[in-house]
Amino acid sequence: MVKVDVKYTKLFINNEWVDAVSKKTFPTINPQDETVIAQVAEADKADVDLAVAAAKKAFARYSPWRLMDASRRGLLMLKLAELIESQARYLAELETLDCGKPVKDAEEEVYYAATVLRYYAGKADKILGNTIPADGEVMSFTLKEPVGVCGQIIPWNYPIPMISWKIAPALAAGCTIVLKPAEQTPLTALAVAALIKEAGFPPGVVNVLPGYGPTAGAALTHHPDVDKIAFTGSTEVGRIILGAASAVNLKRITLELGGKSPLVVFNDADVEKAAQIAHAAAFANAGQCCCAGTRTYVQSGIYDQFVKKAAEIASKRSVGNPFENVQQGPQIDQDMYTKVLSYITAGKEGGAKCVAGGDKVGDKGFYIKPTVFADVTDNMKIAREEIFGPVQSILKFDTFEEVIDRANDTNYGLGAGVITNDITTALSFAKQVRAGSIWVNTYDHTPSQTPFGGFKDSGLGRELGEDGINQYLETKTVTLALPKQPQ
Ligand code: NAD
Repeated sequence: MVKVDVKYTKLFINNEWVDAVSKKTFPTINPQDETVIAQVAEADKADVDLAVAAAKKAFARYSPWRLMDASRRGLLMLKLAELIESQARYLAELETLDCGKPVKDAEEEVYYAATVLRYYAGKADKILGNTIPADGEVMSFTLKEPVGVCGQIIPWNYPIPMISWKIAPALAAGCTIVLKPAEQTPLTALAVAALIKEAGFPPGVVNVLPGYGPTAGAALTHHPDVDKIAFTGSTEVGRIILGAASAVNLKRITLELGGKSPLVVFNDADVEKAAQIAHAAAFANAGQCCCAGTRTYVQSGIYDQFVKKAAEIASKRSVGNPFENVQQGPQIDQDMYTKVLSYITAGKEGGAKCVAGGDKVGDKGFYIKPTVFADVTDNMKIAREEIFGPVQSILKFDTFEEVIDRANDTNYGLGAGVITNDITTALSFAKQVRAGSIWVNTYDHTPSQTPFGGFKDSGLGRELGEDGINQYLETKTVTLALPKQPQ
């Protein structure tokens, strides 16, 4: 077992490390062996009140943050990106300890988070309004202004990338932040908080509060001084948050929720390559990915060949100690482990053919074999519900029209993929499938520049790209009386 130094376990408010007002702590668990890694300060309503007050003060007129040149905000973000990269190995090991993902994946995610910070750092001084040829004896223009105090609630599946998706556009826009990491993975958010202080952000600009959803999370979503909530997690909690965000004041809101994304393979695809793409789509991060391509639709002409290949690749996927050179570590916690295993049982009992995996691995830690079901039909539980584990369902189809209808027959709409060499098929698919991201001959490619988010029950709003920063900006129209001027 690799020894990782856990340096920060307190709440981060106003650039200070503090205990919870209640003095309560909660354990964070190592998913490899179910031991307690550390006790972490547990935020609740009283701590949320303090953190929101700090964020509100940091956002006050004439505060150092509000008076700072936009370009300087960008420079602070660049500094943070540099500090994060300088600690890439440490942050990756801390993530692996807390979250169980293979350390090489965790390290890639740290570098990815730095790219997101750099992308938005460059935007900080390029936030532009418009001049508008308004009717009447007036001149009009718009100003883009920061939304204000933002509550950001993130999940455990990609902790460091999720921090970057949340804080980078908010900081570039000039907002202040109270961030609540998931209770399963508080450690890297606290380590990043230390770097935020080191980078030189003024006190109160970013506050980090580990704690539970129904307590700390709910206090944040109900707080009257919070102007916006950004959330990533389950659709179920997304609904609760949408209600809470409108209960006291009308918070702006972005929601990145679940999915049951289709990946469709047409007869003209190279079976080997298609099976590899579909495998990565379903099994990346042990299947704990909101846009995982878990419904693999394969056209009848290559179906048998594809199933054989998919089973072969999944059977070879290495599962084990995430500090070693493996492709898959444990699932995040006991709840998810039990839930995923129950879906595997449902798949078997529901009549799907298990062609790979289908069981847990060992008796210690939350390890599950990469599992492939063939002959899945649309109404089976495993084809309809988000499993959030290493389970791929393969379904057979015949025609383009049929598969579009079936791909769209879900309340979700986060991602979708198509594998084909026919440009008309690819573009028709892209136009007709109702999802926020469509990938052609690739999957889950999500760089900083391209917007990401869901149709239907998969969310509201977009993160990343130009759309991502707009979610942290208000548009203000300024109209001045001016005698009629030549156009
Ligand atoms: P969750 O939605 O319960 O938790 C995500 C975050 O929301 C955590 O920080 C949690 O503390 C917080 N939260 C929970 N209840 C809250 C409340 N009432 N008010 C405010 N904040 C609250 O997700 P989970 O329990 O960790 O996982 C359950 C399911 O969520 C998974 O099976 C999966 O389907 C889905 N999920 C989706 C994503 C995604 O990226 N879209 C990520 C993680 C989990």
